[in-house]
Amino acid sequence: MHSLNVALGARSYPIIIGSRLLGDAQYLLPSIRGRQVCVVTNETVAPLYLARLLDGLPGFDKVDVVELPDGESYKTLNTVNRIFDVLLEKRHNRTTTLIALGGGVVGDMCGFAAACYQRGVDFIQVPTTLLALVDSSVGGKTGVNHPLGKNMIGAFYQPRLVLADTDTLATLPDREFSAGVAEVIKYGLICDAPFFHWLEANMDALLQRDAAILAYAVDRCCRDKAAVVASDERESGRRAILNFGHTFGHAIETVQGYGVWLHGEAVAAGMVLALELSLLCGSINNNLLERLRSLLRKARLPQRPPAEMTVVDFLQAMELDKKVVNGRLRLVVLKSLGEARVADDTPREKVIEALKNCGV
Ligand code: NAD
Ligand code: MG
Repeated sequence: MHSLNVALGARSYPIIIGSRLLGDAQYLLPSIRGRQVCVVTNETVAPLYLARLLDGLPGFDKVDVVELPDGESYKTLNTVNRIFDVLLEKRHNRTTTLIALGGGVVGDMCGFAAACYQRGVDFIQVPTTLLALVDSSVGGKTGVNHPLGKNMIGAFYQPRLVLADTDTLATLPDREFSAGVAEVIKYGLICDAPFFHWLEANMDALLQRDAAILAYAVDRCCRDKAAVVASDERESGRRAILNFGHTFGHAIETVQGYGVWLHGEAVAAGMVLALELSLLCGSINNNLLERLRSLLRKARLPQRPPAEMTVVDFLQAMELDKKVVNGRLRLVVLKSLGEARVADDTPREKVIEALKNCGV
């Protein structure tokens, strides 16, 4: 077990990473300030890990559980309202702590509910997917989807603790695990060239979920993300590099309908498009694109966008994305391996050319 700190002044919090953490009261209790707790989870994760989590919460006056339906298509305001219903029916007050037990969908909704309930109550992230362990549980972005765009309704709201128990990954379906690997690869590309090299050497062991390899990768990603978030909590600048591949990826998710392609799968194809664009902007060479494709192939992730999507589909969806500023597309491109920059001057023609080069 070891611990990292996300350095955000008064909003700083630890990320505790390791195995056998769930169910051990010493990790959760120091971060719970009141006498009330509400665990938010879903119908898939509850039978697997809820009992173990509750073992780590002895002696509370009130522990309630909200079990949500499973799926990205339920990441909506309506579903968040079910959390409010329970909190109000069971008379939770401003001293309550919400605990998100699950993947990014549960974490994003629980965090948003915590940001809004009685204008803000404490919350803790207990991520159970690879994507949530390395990405969504850290950094304080919370929210839900709207039929017209992904993550369009939300708030920046930091948890008080991230409890990252790598044992939970044992039950994660392969396809979900691979989707998380897309975000893992992203850190190497945007800010950590040595980690990219490490992934090239260790991808097979990572996919076999070797415990030591997994712990190393989770730790490295959380460190990279914590450093970026600490430098720019609300995405006024540098934090945007974490969106590498995401503007293209969100277009894929929006046009296909949420949940058809997994978030990580869309990000995988989106990173190929973003790298293709970087190539056209003249900063990187072809060889890096090949190396990315090879890692994605090993991880059984898509290397190109869905065949049925057109250039118009992409442009329309991308222009609705949050990354449009004053009518210009803001896209993240690579300057070199491990170094990303936000470009708000990318000509549309270059974006179209990148799409066409990837078979759109
Ligand atoms: P998810 O939450 O839908 O989980 C994937 C599937 O795995 C679900 O069916 C879930 O029930 C199941 N599952 C979870 N843990 C399991 C376990 N241990 N064993 C077996 N099954 C398990 O998806 P995700 O990939 O974790 O998260 C994707 C979401 O995260 C998207 O909505 C995305 O927008 C969001 N996200 C948020 C941020 C952020 O900074 N807040 C960053 C990246 C992604
Ligand atoms: Mg993401």
